[in-house]
Amino acid sequence: MPKEARAKPGASPPSSASAFSGRHLLGLQELPAEEIRLLLEQARRYAPLSTQNRTKHPVLKGRLVVTMFVESSTRTKNSFNLAARRLSADTMDFAAGSSSLSKGETLIDTAKTIEAMGIEILVVRHPASGAPDMLARHVKAAVVNAGDGSHEHPTQGLLDIYTILEEKKRIEGLRVGIVGDILHSRVARSNIWGLLKLGAEVWVCGPATLIPEPLRDLGVKISHDFDALLPNLDVVNMLRIQLERIKGPPMFPSIREYARLFGLNAARMRRAKKDLLVMHPGPLNRGVEITPDVADGERSVILDQVANGLAVRMAVLHRAAGLAPFAEGGAE
Ligand code: ASP
Repeated sequence: MPKEARAKPGASPPSSASAFSGRHLLGLQELPAEEIRLLLEQARRYAPLSTQNRTKHPVLKGRLVVTMFVESSTRTKNSFNLAARRLSADTMDFAAGSSSLSKGETLIDTAKTIEAMGIEILVVRHPASGAPDMLARHVKAAVVNAGDGSHEHPTQGLLDIYTILEEKKRIEGLRVGIVGDILHSRVARSNIWGLLKLGAEVWVCGPATLIPEPLRDLGVKISHDFDALLPNLDVVNMLRIQLERIKGPPMFPSIREYARLFGLNAARMRRAKKDLLVMHPGPLNRGVEITPDVADGERSVILDQVANGLAVRMAVLHRAAGLAPFAEGGAE
């Protein structure tokens, strides 16, 4: 990975808001807390524009943003495309299935080929953990990780933190629970890095087979008893079981039993704090990790997460373009 993107978790934050420390966004593990705050503030400034169809910000005019998704996606790819267009960038979607990747070309060769067409920002999703990191070492374009295997999904982590901030006005001191298949979840990992850096108390909860014990070394607290944990939480982030990543023998007895022990339902909600924030990155498996009444209920901010994702991705593209924080362009 290029040096610029390798800020260590404990590295001192930039002293002023005059520059971002890099252009790639490979994970929240690498980003100092101050850089995360800058991105969140940049997103807050773009938020009013993110919902307007007619007004565009000219800040990325003439720049080419390519989305290269080698794994399926609904909201992330559309959100990046829309965010790029809101900033007046040209966009190109690289359809992995019908490309030379399926003829045996390496990811790096494919990326270099499309880079030769003049792209400046490459948004990549890949089933292999570390694929964006590898690309960032070989291409000149800024690489933005849109989810790599079970490693990280940094824009999801940022938009989750942004949504919590919008609702609770702080992160520090909040008790946040992440419930479900933590072992295979890139969303969990990005949330954990970001939330810990901003001072939240982070809990993970699920069957023992789906919780990596080494998380304790990062300062994450572990529970296998959702009923005991839930009443203490300010925020709960419910995750899908990543069945596509579970190979070999089953990791819990049955979906039915999983839902009984770890699903969020109306009965459990009655024992939660009145102002508990209910989150989910999507796609939802209704009736498994969350029941429809809770997903659509008044404490759910699931659709706000999707909406906030647009502003957050505008901020990430702004940074990837090498612009200074809060550089203005004026609407056109
Ligand atoms: N959409 C998220 C991801 O791409 C969460 C999920 O798939 O469960 O990781």
